[in-house]
Amino acid sequence: MPRYEYRCRACGTTFELNRPMAESSAPASCPDGHDDTVKLLSTVAVTGTASSSSSASPARPPSGGGGGGCCGGGCCG
Ligand SMILES: [Zn+2]
Repeated sequence: MPRYEYRCRACGTTFELNRPMAESSAPASCPDGHDDTVKLLSTVAVTGTASSSSSASPARPPSGGGGGGCCGGGCCG
């Protein structure tokens, strides 16, 4: 069930409700009982939007440890 986020304009609090999509535009009352609420842009976590994280680096740069690039220039002896 998707989760929707609302904000109460009476007291300024934000709250989330789990409700079916058919009731997404239905009026929601805040936890304090105010009815003057607005629905925020819902970050629905139900459908998995494929956020392409390019974490597949083919080769790590040699950093920290033996075999550094320093020895290439002859500084190691
Ligand atoms: Zn309120």
